[in-house]
Amino acid sequence: MNTLEYVPVPAFADNYIWLVSDGRDAVAVDPGEAAPVRAQLAERGWRLSAILLTHHHADHVGGVADLIGDTPIPVYGPAAEGIAVVTHPLSGGDRVVLPSPRLELQVIDVPGHTRGHIAYFQAGQGQPGTTPHVFCGDTLFACGCGRLFEGTPAQMLASLDALAALPGETQVHCAHEYTLSNIRFALACDPGNERLRAWSDRAQALRARSVPTLPTTIAHERAVNPFLRTGDPAVQRALAEELHEPAADRLTAFTLMREWKNRFR
Ligand code: ZN
Ligand code: FE
Repeated sequence: MNTLEYVPVPAFADNYIWLVSDGRDAVAVDPGEAAPVRAQLAERGWRLSAILLTHHHADHVGGVADLIGDTPIPVYGPAAEGIAVVTHPLSGGDRVVLPSPRLELQVIDVPGHTRGHIAYFQAGQGQPGTTPHVFCGDTLFACGCGRLFEGTPAQMLASLDALAALPGETQVHCAHEYTLSNIRFALACDPGNERLRAWSDRAQALRARSVPTLPTTIAHERAVNPFLRTGDPAVQRALAEELHEPAADRLTAFTLMREWKNRFR
């Protein structure tokens, strides 16, 4: 059996660079910095064999040139974002097959945070014990979603819908540790949500020990992430009350919620 390890490497203030390894070779997702990746590879005795990029922001691509240095390895990334270091441009529907670690990934278009943002989905092989995984960059976060820098609310809502439609057991590998501040906002949008309250306690306990709150799962996000719950009447009521504006359809609710989050302290 092909057992892979998924390791979040902390970078900058709150980024995670995910490493996927078979114990010998490793793939790095969104290496914004080279040094922490190098250190982790050296400590574990892994060799970097490929790089996957979700979008063009510097905190996701900044370490690539340094990492590829004199050993050229394939760099996969969104075709629509003109990232100079990408050797294998991708768009939604494409499939990536890597020999080592052995990985098969489906590319999903998830515009909104940036215009060409993509996610990588690794399907479970349909057998017990083979869990699906997704690398979603700055689109879906634990209890939150990315800011809309280049896309529209309608695009981001469709992107989140595409991720929410993945199997519930899918492990979600986000690119930032934003969970605690996201939970504070989520509690304002969804105050009656018991699972969210319980998660708030658990997440605080994890962060008090500097343990990552990730990966999360799609099923968990459907239950606690307000940006995936914009169709819920209780969430729509909380929004309407707070903002004194009706939020009775999902797109309006999503748009208002994202704007409220931008100014929430
Ligand atoms: Zn970003
Ligand atoms: Fe980022």
